[in-house]
Amino acid sequence: MASLKPRSRGLSARRREVRYVSSIVRQCLLLAVFSGIVCGQQRPVRVYLIGTGAPEITMERAGQSTLISLDTNHFLFDAGRHTLQGLYKARIAPQEVTRIFLTHLHNDHIEGLPPLWMTPWFLLRRRQGLEIWGPPGTANMIAGMRQMFAHDIERRSNETLKKEFLDIEVHEIGPGTVYAAGDMTITAVEVEHHDGNPAFGYRFDAAGRSVLLTGDATLTANLLEAGNGVDILISNVASGTPRLEGSGAIDPILNKLMKPEQAARLFLTTGPRLAVYSHIVKKGLPGKLGDDEIIARTRKAGFEGGLVMGLDGMQIVIGDEIQLTQPQPSDDLPELDGAGLIF
Ligand SMILES: [Zn+2]
Repeated sequence: MASLKPRSRGLSARRREVRYVSSIVRQCLLLAVFSGIVCGQQRPVRVYLIGTGAPEITMERAGQSTLISLDTNHFLFDAGRHTLQGLYKARIAPQEVTRIFLTHLHNDHIEGLPPLWMTPWFLLRRRQGLEIWGPPGTANMIAGMRQMFAHDIERRSNETLKKEFLDIEVHEIGPGTVYAAGDMTITAVEVEHHDGNPAFGYRFDAAGRSVLLTGDATLTANLLEAGNGVDILISNVASGTPRLEGSGAIDPILNKLMKPEQAARLFLTTGPRLAVYSHIVKKGLPGKLGDDEIIARTRKAGFEGGLVMGLDGMQIVIGDEIQLTQPQPSDDLPELDGAGLIF
């Protein structure tokens, strides 16, 4: 699951854990029958901001990627630069992340995909392929990626590193429910991203909790509707210095993304328990200066609710309360090389 597990955990420990979990499930079912309690509502949804940046090359933030987890299920939304390292930094086993939802096909949302696909396969012995949901064009992009790594696939595969563990099942999606299992649903929301279209945001619903990711998008009615009453709303945001914004030089960028004032309107209309910025564009405003400016503009536009400027490695746990954990230091993480410490 999400946390680091010591290598010494044997099969018997896993069986005990399975029996323990089964016992909990039985108890929950009994409780549900006799008292109407829905046990799923006790299960926290975990949101990991893996990478909160955009195309810009900066040491502040890695490329765009967000992980949502419930129980042992991981769902990754976009795979920008350094997604693999970001998962490890968040103490997520990369080989367990096999379900990926792409908002659109701009490079800053997919360029972390090849390492996430290939490296856990041969280094961490992933024993299954990937499943990827994305807009029309995704299958073609995946076919191109396979072609790019054709040499490696052929030469490195063997009886242990089976080629089938590199299979990718692609779902090209339209708006609506794109994933449903148990009490979990993932709904694609059509958004407006101009030269990034077709583009989607995603709403995740499970265990009585909900998250909306706007993806890369400007404000449209679809998002106002889809975000209604969510627990967490993760919005992209784009801004620049007054001089840049005044000159019109960055209008093509601003017009396909969310300005702080638009985000404020989105938050005010939908009323999330916590609003979060990720995919942060701030032209000419590096560091804390830019982050503070975006928050200040959002506040000035009237939004006074919970608001967080996302940082790589932040974790948000959604339960009866919302817990925000700042990024953990990564200096003490050992090399993840498949020979030593394994999740
Ligand atoms: Zn982007």
